[in-house]
Amino acid sequence: MACRACPRLVRHREEVARRKARAFRNETYWGKPVPGFGDPEAWLFLVGLAPAAHGANRTGRPFTGDGPRGAGDFLMAALHRAGLANRPFSRLADDGLALSGVYLSAICRCAPPKNRPTPAEVRNCLPFLVEELRIVRPRVVLCLGGLAFSWTLRALEALGEALPRPRPKFRHGLRLDLPAATLLASYHPSRQNTQTGRLTPAMLDAVLAEALQAQAPLPAQRAEGGTPTGRRGTRGRSSRPRGGPRPEAGSGPPPS
Ligand code: SF4
Repeated sequence: MACRACPRLVRHREEVARRKARAFRNETYWGKPVPGFGDPEAWLFLVGLAPAAHGANRTGRPFTGDGPRGAGDFLMAALHRAGLANRPFSRLADDGLALSGVYLSAICRCAPPKNRPTPAEVRNCLPFLVEELRIVRPRVVLCLGGLAFSWTLRALEALGEALPRPRPKFRHGLRLDLPAATLLASYHPSRQNTQTGRLTPAMLDAVLAEALQAQAPLPAQRAEGGTPTGRRGTRGRSSRPRGGPRPEAGSGPPPS
């Protein structure tokens, strides 16, 4: 993936990769757009904000390399407790992390200065998110943070999803049962949130429990012994269309 559509972000991601942090001065930074990662047949699709300068922009994998007690470890520990990840940390692209039924994505694929992409930059990047959602067809979409929430609504709208009017506002724990998928919202697991207690492990566990509950077939489907198929989004993995293009799941960079 060699997109250079956002000059400010291209400059920043490459400059960070050249200068490096002292702790990582002997590493080769990824320094490019960070592709999604996880299970290409995921039922749960997580949407974050953007790669961290010395985290995903270094390792080339979302939520990876933010350091102990960083966002990646906080998230992966929760996924591990929920039985959705094979280890409770995310440090390097070759650390053996495997996600089961989960896919990680973001509204912006390049590390922005001060972790803040501009609306124009997110708009440039949105087609990548739309395409991943179209291919993965998740049953549940979990947005991490307010920006991820509002831009994911736009992505779902671009896919033809019928959204409530007025548009719902972000709040932690929000659940929206849309025709094709359930949308959940959580605070982002950034240090700013987790080290101030705004987001605790128990709060994220509760959101993941809600996701697991939303993933289950509806009572009517269980009675019929089947799963309905929709325009997109499925009520169970057995109804997911096969074939066609796949996202670059798990296709991180070479080990750094
Ligand atoms: S943020 Fe997205 S659109 Fe902008 S340069 Fe990176 S990959 Fe391209």
